Amino acid sequence: MNIVIFGPPGAGKGTQSKFIASKYNLHQLSTGDLLRNEIKNKTELGIKISSIMNSGELVSDEIVGNLIEKFISNRDYHNKIIFDGYPRTLPQAQNLDNLLKKYNQKIDLVLKLSVSQETVIKRILERKNQEKRADDNQDIAVKRYQTYEKSSEPVIDYYKRSDLLKVVNGETSISEINIEISGLIEANKG
Ligand code: AMP
Repeated sequence: MNIVIFGPPGAGKGTQSKFIASKYNLHQLSTGDLLRNEIKNKTELGIKISSIMNSGELVSDEIVGNLIEKFISNRDYHNKIIFDGYPRTLPQAQNLDNLLKKYNQKIDLVLKLSVSQETVIKRILERKNQEKRADDNQDIAVKRYQTYEKSSEPVIDYYKRSDLLKVVNGETSISEINIEISGLIEANKG
């Protein structure tokens, strides 16, 4: 199955994606990780996007679209992807549908981690100490949350219409969220 995990920055998408990927033998496709890798390796793309990412804005739909097609077209990942951090805009959601169709696949489940801005800021500041991410500070965290509300919330309506969306309470503990998500995946597998 292909799963989309959705939610504001700091909601726990990465943590939960890793858990789902190992439990259900899926491949975690994190656009944030792919982009950070480009910056770390100082590639042409990395140099172009570093200031955008560090200001809490979104990288262009075209850039991330190109990154994900490589994975969707890979036979090894056929119907085995968890999309972590993609789509984040309505055009990205439409692009994802088109790409999956092109490679004879579809989305089976969209999990939305629902978390308040207050919790998100708290978690991002905690993560800052552990992961040392350049975009994990208070001002940029607020900006990233605002970017999420503005650009990404419309994606929710898009998935609501196709009845794929399941909302998970992201305020609880990591293990409680694990259990809730597993239940939803098992129910979906039927
Ligand atoms: P994340 O690790 O998912 O929190 O992403 C970190 C940053 O990478 C975001 O704030 C954006 O600047 C960029 N990014 C990640 N995924 C996307 C995406 N799907 N579209 C645009 N920008 C993205």
